[in-house]
Amino acid sequence: MFNKVLIANRGEIALRILRACKELGIETVAVHSTADADAMHVRLADQSVCIGPPASRDSYLNVHEIIAACEVTGADAIHPGYGFLSENAKFAEICEAHGINFIGPSAEHISVMGDKIVAKQTAERLGIPVVPGSDGAITEDAEAKRVAADIGYPVIIKAASGGGGRGMRVVNSEDEMSTALQTTRSEAGAAFGDDAVYVEKYLAKPRHIEVQIMGDGKGAGVHLGERDCSLQRRHQKVLEEANSPALNAEQREEIGAICAKAVADLGYSGAGTVEFLYENGEFYFIEMNTRLQVEHPVTEMITRIDLVNEQLRVASGGGLSFKQQDVKFQGHAIECRINAENARTFVPSPGTIVHYHPPGGLGVRVDSGVFSGYRVPPYYDSLIGKLIVVGRNRVECLSRLRRSLDEFVVEGIETTLPLFRDLVTNKDVIDGNYDIHWLEKYLSDKE
Ligand code: ADP
Repeated sequence: MFNKVLIANRGEIALRILRACKELGIETVAVHSTADADAMHVRLADQSVCIGPPASRDSYLNVHEIIAACEVTGADAIHPGYGFLSENAKFAEICEAHGINFIGPSAEHISVMGDKIVAKQTAERLGIPVVPGSDGAITEDAEAKRVAADIGYPVIIKAASGGGGRGMRVVNSEDEMSTALQTTRSEAGAAFGDDAVYVEKYLAKPRHIEVQIMGDGKGAGVHLGERDCSLQRRHQKVLEEANSPALNAEQREEIGAICAKAVADLGYSGAGTVEFLYENGEFYFIEMNTRLQVEHPVTEMITRIDLVNEQLRVASGGGLSFKQQDVKFQGHAIECRINAENARTFVPSPGTIVHYHPPGGLGVRVDSGVFSGYRVPPYYDSLIGKLIVVGRNRVECLSRLRRSLDEFVVEGIETTLPLFRDLVTNKDVIDGNYDIHWLEKYLSDKE
């Protein structure tokens, strides 16, 4: 096992990784920008290194400073968390070149899955069902029109290097195609430095269902069931649950086994998520994330497997602590992403938290680095914490979530807590009856 791990991230996920390291007796190094000098992950780590000014590109994305911090502190591995450098194949390579273990899959697997076109082709080759669409990148109008006519409108144009819900455009008919293709390409070029786009069928009412996988890098692959992340705003997840209310045990086993086999065939190492849209009983692969996800705790709560602990084991060559038959799903878990934002307009609300009281009790987990007196900096993502609740079944989980949300006090800044308090009393949410467009419609109806 590693002696010392440097955590190249901030906020709740830095704390989450730190906790797993402590339980394994691994020393931790926190890195931070000048804006995060007082952060909880910095206070709790064994050592900390300031890596630059507030802007992410000068600190949390500053590869040179991060590698230097590793060398100065003698850390033998880096955990990238999610976001920032977690899916940067070049960074994984640089770590390797410096003799530092990157806690994640190989640079090659990161780069295969980082290009959505190559990822889709790879998935198809591995026997994973994909969304019907173009075989590769599309540059010509005529070709886009031919593919769209073949699969039928509406279609969606997606950037090969897109991420975070950006770089997508829905096209409803042939006369919209030329403009849409051009605009998406130039936007993608500007935003991601890669103007490659592809076309696929636009699914009208799908759910977003993703499968958590782990590979030991030596040819074994397992799945830990699915998460339903259909409640989204602007293609970004807001509330996630496990298991999905839409699947039964047989469907879970079937799609899980397909993903586990693909992971094994790839020789994949570490944690990953295979994302699907699910409509009319069919799964359609959209992408694979080669890292820990924000919503990983719902899986942990119903499997009682610590995913970060397993990542550390695999990366240090110790393999997984469990086999597929050891994975048992028990109960139901829901996560709410709590953002420092107005719950109606979603305008960010940085500032000082004057009073903070998280909920507690049986089945309640709060992953957050904030505290009374903490100043939420304006420079980063607005996620300030996650409330994760587990119950013996979905009904118990929802009622526990309702009372936990009532207990939760965050004063001084605005948060999205009021949105969740409304959602958990809504009939469709209670019934598990929603698709990826449900939340947007709910929000616009409320206006
Ligand atoms: P990103 O990498 O930006 O997260 P994804 O490919 O994972 O992009 O898609 C994000 C979300 O966009 C999905 O969860 C879904 O809501 C929507 N989406 C993507 N592809 C399609 C599609 N073919 N049909 C309908 N919605 C889609």
